[in-house]
Amino acid sequence: MSHFTFAALGLAEPLQRALAAEGYHTPTPIQSRAIPLALEGRDVLGVAQTGTGKTAAFGLPLLQRLAEDRVAAGPRTARALILAPTRELAIQSHESLRCYGRHLPLRHAVVIGGINQSKQAETMRRGVDILVATPGRLIDLTNQKHVRLDAVTTLVIDEADRMLDMGFIRDVRRIVAWLPRERQSMLFSATMPSEIEHLAAQVLRNPVRIDISPARVTADDIEQRVYFVAAQDKRMLLTELLTDRAMKRVIVFTRTKHGANKVAEHLGKAGHTVDAIHGNKSQNARQGALERFRTGRARILVATDIAARGIDIDDVTHVVNFELPDVAESYVHRVGRTARAGSAGTAIAFCDDSERDSLRAIERLVKQRLVVIDHARRTQPRDHAPPPKSRTPAGRRPGHPAPRRREQFQKVLQQ
Ligand code: AMP
Repeated sequence: MSHFTFAALGLAEPLQRALAAEGYHTPTPIQSRAIPLALEGRDVLGVAQTGTGKTAAFGLPLLQRLAEDRVAAGPRTARALILAPTRELAIQSHESLRCYGRHLPLRHAVVIGGINQSKQAETMRRGVDILVATPGRLIDLTNQKHVRLDAVTTLVIDEADRMLDMGFIRDVRRIVAWLPRERQSMLFSATMPSEIEHLAAQVLRNPVRIDISPARVTADDIEQRVYFVAAQDKRMLLTELLTDRAMKRVIVFTRTKHGANKVAEHLGKAGHTVDAIHGNKSQNARQGALERFRTGRARILVATDIAARGIDIDDVTHVVNFELPDVAESYVHRVGRTARAGSAGTAIAFCDDSERDSLRAIERLVKQRLVVIDHARRTQPRDHAPPPKSRTPAGRRPGHPAPRRREQFQKVLQQ
């Protein structure tokens, strides 16, 4: 954490007031570094994931500069454009910006797929100061002349690596080509594969690079555990772990939509309050599920990676990787749902024999070994599932923490 205050970073009083009301007293590291530079109009390349406070890092200077300029947005135009890969992230960023800017006379809009476009076109008719959009719907509305992008003075590309994963990079390039060349641009990405370095080089001019590496976020704030468990025993293990009352607010990640439905159904039958969100659910169903989870009416949210992008819910105590992701970076995104803004959290991974390589890739990425929990004594005997081959007789994978340390974790679990 930095020693600055928001006032010392140069933020205006109306923004400070909104932040104080939100209970933000100290800027996060990315905020301390990005805000003064972005206020000067510099381009920013932020290597940071969700959970680091990056929305406010780009949002606060953006709001302040727009309010200071006092230029009215022309019909169908936007003065600032924020591109987000998913509807959830777009809605959330839109809500955060509205909240931070609530004492400023700025107009906001969000343009996303999956819902009727006529209301969005209607909002855009008068023009807005800040438009948060997903690429596909923005291209549709621009092609239909409901939106014009030739007055954008600030561009933010959020979660650029996820744009890449989801196949949106061409759409992003197309949108950028419609913008004025003279503008301020900021790009945020949790990881920097070469395609994103490339995109950043094309979009940004002489940027400052701010690196808040994901490995640091996971290593410092999140306790990461792994259970070696046969695929067919995962549901039983999950139900058993959920008897632990410390698991107050839990997100369970599955690899597939079908898998998410199955796990949610199983937990529902076991008497848990649970919802599933994935790409096959309507936008309304997704928002409803998030709301139930946010307000605590559902203790468990079962989600696929894409649906979970941008979920920003405080006090998620545990993230369960019911299946490990194919892409190691997704693990970092998943576990970043807990331990947000500095609070502690626990990430639990279930690893079956077929997922050993994924686990190794994750451990390489986060630069640490996950703590192995031996659950043999906590589950029923499994004569059909012998222990994984690479384990030592003590039930420990080579290089993993010694049994004494494991026992400490078991004690914690059994409390
Ligand atoms: P983000 O990385 O933008 O998704 O933000 C992660 C979470 O941190 C959100 O719940 C924000 O509301 C919260 N947050 C952002 N900045 C601060 C801050 N300076 N102090 C406390 N919480 C913050």
